[in-house]
Amino acid sequence: PDDLLRVEGLSVDFPVSGGLWGRKRAVHAVRDVSFTLSAGETLGVVGESGCGKSTLGRAVLNLIRPTAGRIWWNGSEPAAESLERQRLLRREMTVIFQDPLASLDPRMTIGAQVGEPLDIFEPALPEDEKRRRVAAVLERVGLSADAVGRYPHQFSGGQCQRVGIARALISNPRMIVCDEAVSALDVSIQAQIVALLGDLSREMGVALLFISHNLAVVRQISDRVMVLYLGKVMEIAGRDSLYGAPRHPYTRALLSAVPVPDPDVERNRRRFHLIGDLPSPLDPPKGCVFHTRCPHAVDRCRTEVPDLSGLEGRHHVACHLWRELEFSPSPA
Ligand code: SF4
Ligand code: MG
Repeated sequence: PDDLLRVEGLSVDFPVSGGLWGRKRAVHAVRDVSFTLSAGETLGVVGESGCGKSTLGRAVLNLIRPTAGRIWWNGSEPAAESLERQRLLRREMTVIFQDPLASLDPRMTIGAQVGEPLDIFEPALPEDEKRRRVAAVLERVGLSADAVGRYPHQFSGGQCQRVGIARALISNPRMIVCDEAVSALDVSIQAQIVALLGDLSREMGVALLFISHNLAVVRQISDRVMVLYLGKVMEIAGRDSLYGAPRHPYTRALLSAVPVPDPDVERNRRRFHLIGDLPSPLDPPKGCVFHTRCPHAVDRCRTEVPDLSGLEGRHHVACHLWRELEFSPSPA
């Protein structure tokens, strides 16, 4: 009811032409994904590259049309709204991309780029009010006032990403989709930008859909985390449940690949190895989509798709064997 965003049964296929014998084929990028996001909440979306994270983000932003499923934003369906209304909704949901420099226009000043959304959404805004809002938002993301007249090449990657955040914030959005928003940055800068996004989300009540392949970064910022594999949800849970008590074999494998700073813990903890390569999303495995790489797979896994079943709290896992598999929490 008080969900800001509700996604139900979302699937996105991309047709590809010129297959063998001219057969029509499709990349199944996102498959039957459901989740909710409430105001001010941060949902981390993790998975290997090619698992459908970015496609999911673009579908949520109403930038691509889903093949199946429905998306509600604040109680209504953007895809069913008039174009004018869809344009206004663009203001409520914005995006921050991976490559901060490439997502800025090299010929435009920082001030002009940060203010640009105001030209679109509030064209009648007086010039001095616009300048005031640009200065305020630049200050909020930690850039000095003289940034206004400068150009992107005069800034570091981290500063460019602060510009990207300022540009995303100036229209007072209710949700920001962060697509690998810190992945191109140095590790120390990543932490600063993630901390900034976390502060902004808390202070301004902005919901974040935080898409990343980096599990350490997702842990730092998320309230809940959703794990995708070949476009499907494997597990979704509160941050502490997911990292402290992961249930799905895929989540365990992902987490066991993240180095732990304490050498004793690192030596003693269990490893879960992934077998083989990521299958093609053109022809995803039948049954449990993870079965070709799962060390626990049984016959049933090869034919029967596991439902996303609810554990205690808001923890859901898509595995036939989640009850039987030995439960071994990963070291915190
Ligand atoms: Fe592994 Fe089977 Fe569970 Fe899929 S359903 S994750 S193949 S045990
Ligand atoms: Mg991506």
